[in-house]
Amino acid sequence: MITPDGWLTWAERWPNPGFASRKVDGWHNTGRMYLPHSAVGYWGGFKGRLMDRPETDPTARASVHGWIPYEDNVIQILPFTAECWSSGSPYPNRNGIAFETEGGYKPENEPLTETQIEHHVHIIRDLAEWKQWAPRRPVNGVDKTATLYEHRECTRFGSLPTACPSDRIPWAEILRRLQGGEDDMATIISRPGTNFPQNYLVVGKAMEFLESREQRELAAEAYGISAEPRAVSQAAFDWLAKRAGLSV
Ligand SMILES: [Zn+2]
Repeated sequence: MITPDGWLTWAERWPNPGFASRKVDGWHNTGRMYLPHSAVGYWGGFKGRLMDRPETDPTARASVHGWIPYEDNVIQILPFTAECWSSGSPYPNRNGIAFETEGGYKPENEPLTETQIEHHVHIIRDLAEWKQWAPRRPVNGVDKTATLYEHRECTRFGSLPTACPSDRIPWAEILRRLQGGEDDMATIISRPGTNFPQNYLVVGKAMEFLESREQRELAAEAYGISAEPRAVSQAAFDWLAKRAGLSV
């Protein structure tokens, strides 16, 4: 849950944001979107740059709402009302909630930990409920109506190009969990990058190859789900297959 003044009830509240509280455009963030960033580093460097060094330092003109460590609880630094200097231009800064994700230094595309994935999901779920929006990724490079963006996708709002968050965010998995993706939910997915459709039934931690169209339709009927396979990214497919212990 989120308090009326914009604090996650379950996160650790950092006692003193230091200079970060001066690195904002104002205190009326609409919270209509969420942006997960990659810290490209660790807590010490993050705190030094954002909280300990003043806004007059040109290398320290940045702030975010909070920090997501590899393990352990989320640390919230500024309330969701803050219009943080996080995503490179006024629009996402005034309308977006931004969290830094620890790591992504070597390699830059370091995968998130299970804890980090769960924290992003938890924040998105709470924020979406608080601001009454549905989690949605942009459908193309100019779509400005989505609610979940990456920093590097903010060029459409006028931000400079950046690598952040360097392919670290497993969107398919995050969306799966947000869409009530409890482990007993069944879905049919199609394997990406194959010339002919290869479809799999995913139920909880199990994943099974569907050899024919008839099998697909039978499975859909049995579980009361759509026979139309959901497209997933290669990364999401690999993650699911590995979890299911399937060699594909
Ligand atoms: Zn970023």
